[in-house]
Amino acid sequence: MKAARFYGGKDIRVEDIPTPTPGPGEVLVKIKAGGVCGSDLHNYRGNRQARFTPPWEQGHELGGEIAALGHGVTSLKVGQRVGIEGEHLIGCGKCRHCTEGQSQLCADRGMAGGHLHASHGFSEYDVCKATNVHPLPDHVSFDAAVLLDCYACAVHTLGRTPVGGNETLAIVGAGAIALTLGQVAKAWGAKRVIMVGTRRHPLDVAVRCGAADDVVVAREADPAQAVMKLTGGEGADVVVETVGGSEQVLGVAMSLARRGGTASVMGVFNQPQAIDASMAMTRELTVRWSNSLSNWKGVSEYATAMGLVADGRVQPEPIITHHFPLERISEAFAAAEDKRTSNAIRVVVNA
Ligand SMILES: [Zn+2]
Ligand SMILES: [Zn+2]
Repeated sequence: MKAARFYGGKDIRVEDIPTPTPGPGEVLVKIKAGGVCGSDLHNYRGNRQARFTPPWEQGHELGGEIAALGHGVTSLKVGQRVGIEGEHLIGCGKCRHCTEGQSQLCADRGMAGGHLHASHGFSEYDVCKATNVHPLPDHVSFDAAVLLDCYACAVHTLGRTPVGGNETLAIVGAGAIALTLGQVAKAWGAKRVIMVGTRRHPLDVAVRCGAADDVVVAREADPAQAVMKLTGGEGADVVVETVGGSEQVLGVAMSLARRGGTASVMGVFNQPQAIDASMAMTRELTVRWSNSLSNWKGVSEYATAMGLVADGRVQPEPIITHHFPLERISEAFAAAEDKRTSNAIRVVVNA
Protein backbone atom coordinates (compact mmCIF):
# COMPACT_ATOMS: atom_id res chain seq x y z
CA MET A 1 0.00 0.00 0.00
CA LYS A 2 0.97 3.64 -0.35
CA ALA A 3 1.67 5.55 2.86
CA ALA A 4 3.08 8.96 3.69
CA ARG A 5 6.26 8.56 5.70
CA PHE A 6 7.63 11.44 7.71
CA TYR A 7 11.41 11.87 7.80
CA GLY A 8 11.38 15.02 9.96
CA GLY A 9 10.56 18.63 9.19
CA LYS A 10 9.20 19.14 5.70
CA ASP A 11 10.54 15.82 4.35
CA ILE A 12 7.39 13.76 3.67
CA ARG A 13 7.59 10.90 1.16
CA VAL A 14 4.83 8.68 -0.23
CA GLU A 15 6.26 5.17 -0.25
CA ASP A 16 5.15 1.59 -0.79
CA ILE A 17 5.02 -0.40 2.43
CA PRO A 18 3.36 -3.73 3.30
CA THR A 19 -0.36 -3.50 4.08
CA PRO A 20 -0.73 -4.27 7.80
CA THR A 21 -2.77 -7.21 9.11
CA PRO A 22 -5.29 -6.70 11.92
CA GLY A 23 -4.56 -8.65 15.10
CA PRO A 24 -7.11 -9.80 17.70
CA GLY A 25 -9.54 -7.01 18.57
CA GLU A 26 -8.39 -4.92 15.62
CA VAL A 27 -9.77 -4.03 12.19
CA LEU A 28 -8.13 -3.02 8.92
CA VAL A 29 -9.57 0.26 7.66
CA LYS A 30 -9.30 1.54 4.08
CA ILE A 31 -8.65 5.23 4.79
CA LYS A 32 -10.82 7.66 2.85
CA ALA A 33 -9.88 10.98 4.45
CA GLY A 34 -7.25 12.27 6.87
CA GLY A 35 -7.13 15.80 8.26
CA VAL A 36 -3.98 17.87 8.74
CA CYS A 37 -4.24 19.01 12.37
CA GLY A 38 -2.37 21.98 13.82
CA SER A 39 -0.47 19.50 15.97
CA ASP A 40 0.74 17.73 12.80
CA LEU A 41 2.51 20.97 11.92
CA HIS A 42 4.64 21.28 15.08
CA ASN A 43 7.33 18.92 13.86
CA TYR A 44 6.84 20.06 10.24
CA ARG A 45 7.74 23.59 11.33
CA GLY A 46 10.64 22.33 13.43
CA ASN A 47 9.01 23.57 16.66
CA ARG A 48 8.79 20.25 18.40
CA GLN A 49 10.72 17.03 18.39
CA ALA A 50 8.75 14.15 16.87
CA ARG A 51 7.69 11.36 19.25
CA PHE A 52 8.91 8.79 16.75
CA THR A 53 12.23 8.12 15.06
CA PRO A 54 12.12 8.65 11.28
CA PRO A 55 10.49 7.54 9.17
CA TRP A 56 7.17 7.46 10.94
CA GLU A 57 3.49 7.64 9.93
CA GLN A 58 0.88 9.95 11.39
CA GLY A 59 -2.62 11.40 10.87
CA HIS A 60 -5.05 11.21 13.80
CA GLU A 61 -8.17 12.77 12.20
CA LEU A 62 -9.44 10.00 9.97
CA GLY A 63 -12.35 8.14 8.49
CA GLY A 64 -12.68 5.17 6.17
CA GLU A 65 -14.27 1.82 5.43
CA ILE A 66 -13.60 -1.45 7.20
CA ALA A 67 -11.62 -3.76 4.91
CA ALA A 68 -11.00 -6.72 7.24
CA LEU A 69 -11.76 -7.86 10.76
CA GLY A 70 -9.26 -9.26 13.22
CA HIS A 71 -10.00 -12.22 15.48
CA GLY A 72 -12.82 -11.70 17.95
CA VAL A 73 -14.31 -8.56 16.39
CA THR A 74 -18.06 -9.10 16.10
CA SER A 75 -19.45 -5.58 16.54
CA LEU A 76 -18.29 -4.27 13.14
CA LYS A 77 -18.70 -5.40 9.52
CA VAL A 78 -16.49 -5.35 6.43
CA GLY A 79 -17.57 -2.44 4.19
CA GLN A 80 -18.90 -0.41 7.12
CA ARG A 81 -18.14 3.33 7.05
CA VAL A 82 -16.39 4.50 10.21
CA GLY A 83 -14.73 7.37 12.01
CA ILE A 84 -11.64 6.54 14.03
CA GLU A 85 -10.73 8.03 17.39
CA GLY A 86 -7.02 8.88 17.20
CA GLU A 87 -4.92 6.11 18.71
CA HIS A 88 -2.22 8.43 20.10
CA LEU A 89 -4.78 8.98 22.87
CA ILE A 90 -5.04 5.36 23.98
CA GLY A 91 -4.22 5.05 27.69
CA CYS A 92 -2.68 2.16 29.62
CA GLY A 93 -6.16 1.12 30.80
CA LYS A 94 -4.86 0.35 34.29
CA CYS A 95 -3.86 3.57 36.05
CA ARG A 96 -6.12 5.72 38.20
CA HIS A 97 -6.91 8.10 35.35
CA CYS A 98 -7.69 5.39 32.81
CA THR A 99 -9.97 3.53 35.22
CA GLU A 100 -11.77 6.82 35.90
CA GLY A 101 -12.29 7.29 32.14
CA GLN A 102 -9.80 10.17 31.98
CA SER A 103 -7.23 8.55 29.72
CA GLN A 104 -6.07 11.96 28.50
CA LEU A 105 -4.25 12.19 31.84
CA CYS A 106 -2.56 8.78 31.58
CA ALA A 107 1.22 9.05 31.97
CA ASP A 108 1.57 6.27 29.39
CA ARG A 109 -0.86 7.75 26.89
CA GLY A 110 0.00 6.83 23.34
CA MET A 111 1.81 3.63 24.31
CA ALA A 112 0.42 0.26 23.28
CA GLY A 113 2.14 -2.98 24.28
CA GLY A 114 5.17 -1.00 25.44
CA HIS A 115 5.57 0.78 22.09
CA LEU A 116 4.74 4.28 20.94
CA HIS A 117 1.47 4.10 19.10
CA ALA A 118 -0.57 6.40 16.84
CA SER A 119 -3.09 6.42 13.99
CA HIS A 120 -1.94 6.52 10.38
CA GLY A 121 -4.48 8.68 8.58
CA PHE A 122 -2.16 9.55 5.72
CA SER A 123 -1.97 6.09 4.20
CA GLU A 124 -4.16 3.74 2.19
CA TYR A 125 -4.86 1.45 5.14
CA ASP A 126 -4.51 1.54 8.90
CA VAL A 127 -4.98 -1.11 11.56
CA CYS A 128 -7.23 0.28 14.29
CA LYS A 129 -8.42 -1.05 17.63
CA ALA A 130 -12.09 -1.99 17.26
CA THR A 131 -12.81 0.02 20.41
CA ASN A 132 -11.57 3.19 18.66
CA VAL A 133 -13.72 2.62 15.58
CA HIS A 134 -17.14 4.30 15.53
CA PRO A 135 -19.78 3.54 12.84
CA LEU A 136 -20.52 6.54 10.65
CA PRO A 137 -24.16 7.12 9.65
CA ASP A 138 -24.70 7.03 5.85
CA HIS A 139 -25.47 10.73 5.64
CA VAL A 140 -22.26 11.76 7.44
CA SER A 141 -19.40 12.38 5.00
CA PHE A 142 -15.81 11.25 5.45
CA ASP A 143 -14.90 14.96 5.57
CA ALA A 144 -17.18 15.29 8.59
CA ALA A 145 -15.55 12.19 10.11
CA VAL A 146 -12.20 14.00 9.91
CA LEU A 147 -13.55 16.79 12.09
CA LEU A 148 -14.95 14.47 14.78
CA ASP A 149 -11.61 14.73 16.59
CA CYS A 150 -11.97 18.53 16.76
CA TYR A 151 -15.64 18.34 17.76
CA ALA A 152 -14.74 15.86 20.49
CA CYS A 153 -12.05 18.24 21.79
CA ALA A 154 -14.75 20.93 21.91
CA VAL A 155 -17.05 18.54 23.80
CA HIS A 156 -14.18 17.88 26.24
CA THR A 157 -13.61 21.59 26.84
CA LEU A 158 -17.27 22.50 27.20
CA GLY A 159 -17.87 19.60 29.59
CA ARG A 160 -15.25 21.02 31.93
CA THR A 161 -16.05 24.67 31.24
CA PRO A 162 -19.81 24.49 30.75
CA VAL A 163 -21.91 26.85 28.67
CA GLY A 164 -25.63 26.61 28.08
CA GLY A 165 -26.87 29.23 30.48
CA ASN A 166 -26.89 32.19 28.14
CA GLU A 167 -23.17 32.92 28.38
CA THR A 168 -21.05 35.07 26.15
CA LEU A 169 -18.09 33.02 24.99
CA ALA A 170 -14.98 34.59 23.49
CA ILE A 171 -12.84 32.29 21.38
CA VAL A 172 -9.25 33.25 20.65
CA GLY A 173 -8.23 31.79 17.30
CA ALA A 174 -10.08 31.03 14.08
CA GLY A 175 -8.81 27.60 13.07
CA ALA A 176 -10.71 24.32 12.91
CA ILE A 177 -10.65 23.93 16.71
CA ALA A 178 -12.09 27.42 17.17
CA LEU A 179 -14.83 26.93 14.56
CA THR A 180 -15.90 23.50 15.81
CA LEU A 181 -15.88 24.83 19.38
CA GLY A 182 -18.03 27.82 18.43
CA GLN A 183 -20.56 25.54 16.73
CA VAL A 184 -20.78 23.18 19.71
CA ALA A 185 -21.11 26.11 22.14
CA LYS A 186 -23.99 27.54 20.11
CA ALA A 187 -25.64 24.11 19.81
CA TRP A 188 -25.44 23.80 23.60
CA GLY A 189 -27.01 27.15 24.36
CA ALA A 190 -24.28 29.78 24.56
CA LYS A 191 -26.01 33.09 23.94
CA ARG A 192 -23.25 34.64 21.94
CA VAL A 193 -19.85 33.70 20.56
CA ILE A 194 -17.26 36.38 19.85
CA MET A 195 -14.34 35.04 17.81
CA VAL A 196 -10.98 36.79 17.80
CA GLY A 197 -8.61 36.04 14.92
CA THR A 198 -5.86 37.64 12.95
CA ARG A 199 -7.39 37.31 9.47
CA ARG A 200 -10.81 38.20 8.11
CA HIS A 201 -11.36 35.11 5.91
CA PRO A 202 -11.78 32.34 8.54
CA LEU A 203 -13.79 34.70 10.74
CA ASP A 204 -16.23 35.24 7.86
CA VAL A 205 -16.51 31.46 7.47
CA ALA A 206 -17.11 31.20 11.23
CA VAL A 207 -20.10 33.55 11.01
CA ARG A 208 -21.46 31.76 7.93
CA CYS A 209 -21.29 28.31 9.55
CA GLY A 210 -22.80 29.31 12.88
CA ALA A 211 -19.56 29.26 14.87
CA ALA A 212 -19.54 32.96 15.76
CA ASP A 213 -21.99 35.84 16.15
CA ASP A 214 -19.40 38.62 16.29
CA VAL A 215 -15.80 38.72 15.17
CA VAL A 216 -12.75 40.77 16.07
CA VAL A 217 -9.83 41.06 13.64
CA ALA A 218 -6.89 41.46 16.00
CA ARG A 219 -4.86 43.31 13.38
CA GLU A 220 -7.51 45.98 13.10
CA ALA A 221 -8.57 46.38 16.75
CA ASP A 222 -7.14 45.69 20.20
CA PRO A 223 -8.85 42.39 21.19
CA ALA A 224 -9.44 43.31 24.84
CA GLN A 225 -10.90 46.71 23.99
CA ALA A 226 -13.06 45.22 21.23
CA VAL A 227 -14.44 42.44 23.44
CA MET A 228 -15.11 44.90 26.30
CA LYS A 229 -16.97 47.13 23.89
CA LEU A 230 -19.05 44.23 22.54
CA THR A 231 -19.96 43.15 26.09
CA GLY A 232 -20.90 46.55 27.52
CA GLY A 233 -17.57 46.87 29.36
CA GLU A 234 -17.92 43.54 31.22
CA GLY A 235 -15.83 41.03 29.28
CA ALA A 236 -16.76 37.50 28.28
CA ASP A 237 -18.14 34.95 30.75
CA VAL A 238 -15.90 32.27 29.28
CA VAL A 239 -12.83 32.67 27.09
CA VAL A 240 -11.30 29.73 25.25
CA GLU A 241 -7.77 30.02 23.89
CA THR A 242 -7.26 27.77 20.84
CA VAL A 243 -4.03 29.05 19.31
CA GLY A 244 -1.06 27.92 21.41
CA GLY A 245 2.37 27.99 19.75
CA SER A 246 5.17 30.36 20.64
CA GLU A 247 3.42 33.76 20.75
CA GLN A 248 2.27 35.33 24.03
CA VAL A 249 -1.44 34.58 23.61
CA LEU A 250 -2.55 33.28 27.02
CA GLY A 251 -2.35 36.69 28.67
CA VAL A 252 -4.37 38.22 25.84
CA ALA A 253 -7.02 35.50 26.22
CA MET A 254 -7.25 36.06 29.98
CA SER A 255 -7.69 39.80 29.47
CA LEU A 256 -10.95 39.15 27.59
CA ALA A 257 -12.66 37.48 30.57
CA ARG A 258 -15.08 39.29 32.84
CA ARG A 259 -14.69 39.56 36.61
CA GLY A 260 -15.37 36.11 38.04
CA GLY A 261 -15.06 34.62 34.55
CA THR A 262 -13.20 31.59 33.25
CA ALA A 263 -10.41 31.18 30.73
CA SER A 264 -9.94 27.73 29.25
CA VAL A 265 -6.85 26.72 27.29
CA MET A 266 -7.01 24.34 24.31
CA GLY A 267 -3.98 25.62 22.38
CA VAL A 268 -0.73 23.67 22.65
CA PHE A 269 2.01 26.09 23.71
CA ASN A 270 5.66 25.45 23.07
CA GLN A 271 6.91 28.50 25.00
CA PRO A 272 6.26 29.59 28.61
CA GLN A 273 3.50 32.18 28.80
CA ALA A 274 3.61 35.43 30.80
CA ILE A 275 0.34 36.25 32.54
CA ASP A 276 -0.84 39.30 34.46
CA ALA A 277 -1.40 37.69 37.87
CA SER A 278 -2.58 40.95 39.36
CA MET A 279 -5.35 41.30 36.77
CA ALA A 280 -6.29 37.63 37.27
CA MET A 281 -6.43 38.21 41.04
CA THR A 282 -8.53 41.35 40.74
CA ARG A 283 -10.99 39.57 38.47
CA GLU A 284 -10.79 36.25 40.40
CA LEU A 285 -10.39 34.42 37.12
CA THR A 286 -10.60 30.66 36.91
CA VAL A 287 -8.05 29.33 34.43
CA ARG A 288 -8.20 25.74 33.33
CA TRP A 289 -6.67 23.53 30.69
CA SER A 290 -8.30 21.10 28.31
CA ASN A 291 -6.18 18.27 26.93
CA SER A 292 -7.54 16.38 23.88
CA LEU A 293 -10.57 14.15 24.47
CA SER A 294 -11.68 11.13 26.44
CA ASN A 295 -14.97 10.66 28.34
CA TRP A 296 -17.26 12.98 30.20
CA LYS A 297 -19.48 11.53 32.90
CA GLY A 298 -18.90 8.06 31.48
CA VAL A 299 -19.79 8.97 27.89
CA SER A 300 -17.24 8.92 25.08
CA GLU A 301 -16.69 12.47 23.88
CA TYR A 302 -16.02 11.16 20.38
CA ALA A 303 -19.46 9.49 20.44
CA THR A 304 -21.06 12.74 21.69
CA ALA A 305 -19.36 14.56 18.80
CA MET A 306 -20.68 11.92 16.38
CA GLY A 307 -24.20 12.55 17.68
CA LEU A 308 -23.91 16.31 17.18
CA VAL A 309 -22.74 15.82 13.58
CA ALA A 310 -25.27 13.07 12.79
CA ASP A 311 -28.14 15.16 14.15
CA GLY A 312 -27.12 18.16 12.04
CA ARG A 313 -26.57 20.34 15.12
CA VAL A 314 -23.13 21.38 13.83
CA GLN A 315 -21.96 22.03 10.27
CA PRO A 316 -18.61 20.46 9.44
CA GLU A 317 -18.52 20.98 5.65
CA PRO A 318 -17.64 24.72 5.49
CA ILE A 319 -14.65 24.09 7.78
CA ILE A 320 -13.03 21.70 5.27
CA THR A 321 -11.52 24.03 2.68
CA HIS A 322 -8.93 21.97 0.79
CA HIS A 323 -8.51 18.41 -0.49
CA PHE A 324 -5.34 16.80 -1.84
CA PRO A 325 -4.69 13.24 -3.00
CA LEU A 326 -2.18 11.28 -0.90
CA GLU A 327 0.52 11.62 -3.59
CA ARG A 328 0.38 15.41 -3.07
CA ILE A 329 0.51 15.37 0.73
CA SER A 330 3.46 17.79 0.71
CA GLU A 331 1.19 20.37 -0.93
CA ALA A 332 -1.49 19.62 1.68
CA PHE A 333 0.96 20.34 4.50
CA ALA A 334 2.22 23.47 2.72
CA ALA A 335 -1.37 24.76 2.41
CA ALA A 336 -2.06 23.99 6.08
CA GLU A 337 1.22 25.62 7.14
CA ASP A 338 0.72 28.87 5.21
CA LYS A 339 -2.96 29.63 5.81
CA ARG A 340 -2.38 33.30 5.06
CA THR A 341 -1.66 32.41 1.41
CA SER A 342 -3.92 29.36 1.00
CA ASN A 343 -6.91 30.56 3.08
CA ALA A 344 -7.09 27.00 4.39
CA ILE A 345 -9.00 26.15 7.53
CA ARG A 346 -8.91 22.35 7.55
CA VAL A 347 -6.97 20.52 4.83
CA VAL A 348 -7.91 16.92 4.02
CA VAL A 349 -5.75 14.27 2.38
CA ASN A 350 -7.59 11.55 0.45
CA ALA A 351 -5.84 8.20 0.09
ZN1 LIG B 1 -5.80 17.04 16.07
ZN1 LIG C 1 -3.43 4.91 32.15
